[in-house]
Amino acid sequence: MPETPPSAKSRKFRGRVFINWDRCKGCGFCIEFCPPKVLKFSDKFNNHGYHPPVLENEPACTGCDLCGLYCPDFAIFGIREAVSAGVPASADVPASHAAAA
Ligand code: SF4
Ligand code: SF4
Repeated sequence: MPETPPSAKSRKFRGRVFINWDRCKGCGFCIEFCPPKVLKFSDKFNNHGYHPPVLENEPACTGCDLCGLYCPDFAIFGIREAVSAGVPASADVPASHAAAA
């Protein structure tokens, strides 16, 4: 029987995504290849007229960095971060990225 993946709440790590808003060319590769499908295009434009991705389901991000591997412009990457007891998953989103979302 296949092993059941841990739920986002039971994981000992969380995924975090960093997006360089103005490097993005809006190709959508990161959105297409994200395994749990947690990215979507922003409604907003960057300074070059593209719609960069935003993280729409943060708890489901695994930090696998496939988004970073597929991005041709080095505009996004994901990391896995250990979760400390009592720290909410949304506490550490950098202001630069939160503002861009
Ligand atoms: S780190 Fe992985 S799960 Fe998170 S947004 Fe990137 S591809 Fe998706
Ligand atoms: S893969 Fe890179 S350039 Fe393409 S939409 Fe995602 S962040 Fe933007």
